[in-house]
Amino acid sequence: MNIIVCIKQVPDTNEVKIDPVKGTLIREGVPSIINPDDRNALEEALRIKDQFEDVKVTVVSMGPPQAQVALVEAIAMGADEAYLLSDRAVAGSDTLATSTALTATIKYIGDFDIIFCGRQAIDGDTAQVGPQIAEHLGIPQITYVENLKIEGNKVIARRSLEDGYFVIESEMPVLLTAIKELNEPRYPSIKGIYEGFKGDKIKVVSAKDVNADMDNIGLDGSPTNVLRSFTPPVKVKNLEMIEGTPKEKATKLIARLKQENII
Ligand SMILES: Cc1cc2nc3c(=O)[nH]c(=O)nc-3n(C[C@H](O)[C@H](O)[C@H](O)COP(=O)(O)OP(=O)(O)OC[C@H]3O[C@@H](n4cnc5c(N)ncnc54)[C@H](O)[C@@H]3O)c2cc1C
Repeated sequence: MNIIVCIKQVPDTNEVKIDPVKGTLIREGVPSIINPDDRNALEEALRIKDQFEDVKVTVVSMGPPQAQVALVEAIAMGADEAYLLSDRAVAGSDTLATSTALTATIKYIGDFDIIFCGRQAIDGDTAQVGPQIAEHLGIPQITYVENLKIEGNKVIARRSLEDGYFVIESEMPVLLTAIKELNEPRYPSIKGIYEGFKGDKIKVVSAKDVNADMDNIGLDGSPTNVLRSFTPPVKVKNLEMIEGTPKEKATKLIARLKQENII
């Protein structure tokens, strides 16, 4: 079985700061990490590898050369090989151009049974790239996966909803997007760290190498135009301060919530 996991390197913060003048993300001084949901995606792929024979886990990322650090970590966790699509031609890609470029890279890598993505990236936060890849490839997708079983050529996934879940079956090939409830990602092993830093399992490819559709990648190939990015000012309306000792505050708060029919 061939499993491909899409991993994005993101700034290590949930509060991405935006340059108020340029309207772009301020990345300087912010350490980078594997996008949290993508670590769950990789962990699930590795669990399938632990459970079944002949499973190959390939990791793919699109980003600047320093995104190789994320791929070293993925190899250290147990992935078999990794591809980084790194090319000026993909700079400024919106989600559609990103998914177009990643799809080309996936086709270049070859056969796949399962493609894992994270549900969403903590910097872009759109949750569009996974579903778009499935659409480009014409394969089924199950998003928000919180539990997964493999039976023969089928996946049985529990898809999280706000107030419940769906259980969905799909034949492979299929694209799944992982949420943090799916599992607890493992730490890299010492042997894995050695394997990762050897570097021979990581291949850096260009847009031309993967035969990407050059008209539909990068800034020029992106249909989205960001007119303005900004942090909205915090507006506090109808603020009511509750004073007193902790016990008095709790009693008053409960009374107030009852009064508003909230509890
Ligand atoms: C007009 C425009 C210009 C932009 N210019 C830039 C820019 O210059 N530089 C820049 O960094 N961003 C830029 N962005 C943001 C960029 O488009 C998004 O970060 C990117 O498309 C991924 O979207 P997302 O972060 O919302 O991912 P989501 O859709 O939330 O991600 C879902 C999942 O898809 C996978 N995934 C997403 N992105 C990648 C990736 N790169 N590699 C591997 N897997 C991935 C991961 O599994 C992830 O968990 C731009 C966006 C727009 C609209």
